Amino acid sequence: MKKVKVLSPQVAAKIAAGEVVERPASVVKELLENALDANANQIGVETRGGGLESMRLTDDGSGIESEDVETAFERYATSKINDVEDLHAITTLGFRGEALASIAAVAQVDITTSIEEGTVGDALTLKEGIVVRHVPQARPHGTTITVKDLFRNIPARLKFLKSTATENSHIAEVVSQYALAYPRIKFNLNIDGRPILQTSGNGKLMDVVIAVYGLETAKRMLEVHGGEVGWQAGEAVPITVTGMVGTPTVNKAGRDALHFYVNRRVIGSRLLTRAVEEAYQGLLMQGRHPIAIINITVPPSQLDVNIHPTKAEVKFQNERVVFTSVQRAVRSTLVATAPVPQIEEAQKTYTGQSAAGARSLWPLPNQTNSTMSLTESAPTARLTLPVLRVIGQVAGNYIVAEGPDGLYIIDQHAAHERIMYEQITAQKANRGIVVQEMLEPYSLEVMPQQDEMLKSDIGKLQEFGFVIEPFGERTYLVRVIPAVLKDGDWLEALREIMDSLREKTTNIEDNITKSLACHSAVRAGNKLSDDEMRELIRQLEKVNLPHTCPHGRPTMLHLSIGQLEKEFGRV
Ligand code: ADP
Ligand code: MG
Repeated sequence: MKKVKVLSPQVAAKIAAGEVVERPASVVKELLENALDANANQIGVETRGGGLESMRLTDDGSGIESEDVETAFERYATSKINDVEDLHAITTLGFRGEALASIAAVAQVDITTSIEEGTVGDALTLKEGIVVRHVPQARPHGTTITVKDLFRNIPARLKFLKSTATENSHIAEVVSQYALAYPRIKFNLNIDGRPILQTSGNGKLMDVVIAVYGLETAKRMLEVHGGEVGWQAGEAVPITVTGMVGTPTVNKAGRDALHFYVNRRVIGSRLLTRAVEEAYQGLLMQGRHPIAIINITVPPSQLDVNIHPTKAEVKFQNERVVFTSVQRAVRSTLVATAPVPQIEEAQKTYTGQSAAGARSLWPLPNQTNSTMSLTESAPTARLTLPVLRVIGQVAGNYIVAEGPDGLYIIDQHAAHERIMYEQITAQKANRGIVVQEMLEPYSLEVMPQQDEMLKSDIGKLQEFGFVIEPFGERTYLVRVIPAVLKDGDWLEALREIMDSLREKTTNIEDNITKSLACHSAVRAGNKLSDDEMRELIRQLEKVNLPHTCPHGRPTMLHLSIGQLEKEFGRV
């Protein structure tokens, strides 16, 4: 048997530090949170070598008093809470008193700090968590912490770090997240001497979005304002939801542009991710994710922030109300600002318990909320087009029309693609694709790899309306084609579909439907008669998602009368 013994304080400190300091970006996060808790107005971050060589955070916050500064590096030393009662209503980002001690255990730390102009400040150096130098040093109020040689004393941790570029991107992500949460604070990030992110601190979230995501994306962001009043033990609990979300036309392959803040604390939350994604239901293509910056404010007593080692997750007292508030705030923003003004309530998934059409989705004071599940979503609205009057065609591709609220410019190809996509999907789901026999069979010569594919997948082509028969060496006869393609480029569509089948892309059926839609839709550059334009618009009024094409691009632009008046300076 091995003997049980207590670890030396240095070893114990390194193990504990591992919880808080996983990688360089964790140090940046903790130091940023300290600067924010110190009410800084400006925060500078400079890193070198992926943060392993050095990281320096400078703030103009309250600073640390001379007599406290050594204590601040002790484990569980904090100025933010006094006793366990305070844990029930935390208003600061930090509260555990672990960060400085943990960082000092795994790196060399230099700090200068001063509480106000005119007082002499302090300069300290710590090695292996121990103060090796402490001298007076003048500086303006605020704190500068330099962290060098991170993890040099834990080679095992060093081994698990990724490339410098990866660590840099984590650092940039952390700083961006806080910059988006605090538009009033001026952030400056410099990596290896290159300026990476600068915000003005003017308080405008839009300006931070421009700094982080660029102007093109920022132009397509919508402001969110919402909130609900929930009830907890008979007391009203106000919840507010603010922020910005992207229109469905700006979307990403991953979920990395979903930012959630609760009481200005950065959090990850599957619950809130789902709330936002449900709000976009029917507006985004499968596999695409929106951009969203969601600030939630709840009374601090409604929140447990002490459930996660790096404080990355929180627990809400009443998850359901928060879920509903976020989902509704985002949905109503999207619906109100979508280029399509008329809203029809298509389905009410919520089975309300009360009579008289009450739309309350949160429990009333005397009801318990445990009986309702989170799968009940708020009523979702279907976006349809109002009746439009066709005015004419521009550049052989844009149909200009007038609606009850202003001007519509419709991309004829994109719009027709949407119409055909929904028609083909419906045909497939009902009796199968409507087909047309060729007057004379077409002889198609294929490449060897296509030949291989056809040997196994010829049935799939038939499902989509192409009847093809082998006819000698690498030659096939096309006898029947989908009727929607009779005036379109059926051969090009067939080639594309054979490619999709050969590459075994994901969503093969959807890709095939898109190819059929694309090649049966009217081309850009086709002159349309007034009747043809009217017919196209009439069909567009009937589809489920009129304002995006199957590839997710917009089908139309809408200029409201209000916008026109603003443009012409009439308001
Ligand atoms: P916590 O943030 O949980 O209190 P830390 O270890 O991060 O624990 O910090 C310990 C204490 O040091 C803080 O409570 C605070 O009083 C002080 N401190 C740390 N960083 C700063 C800073 N940038 N400005 C002012 N005070 C700071
Ligand atoms: Mg802290």
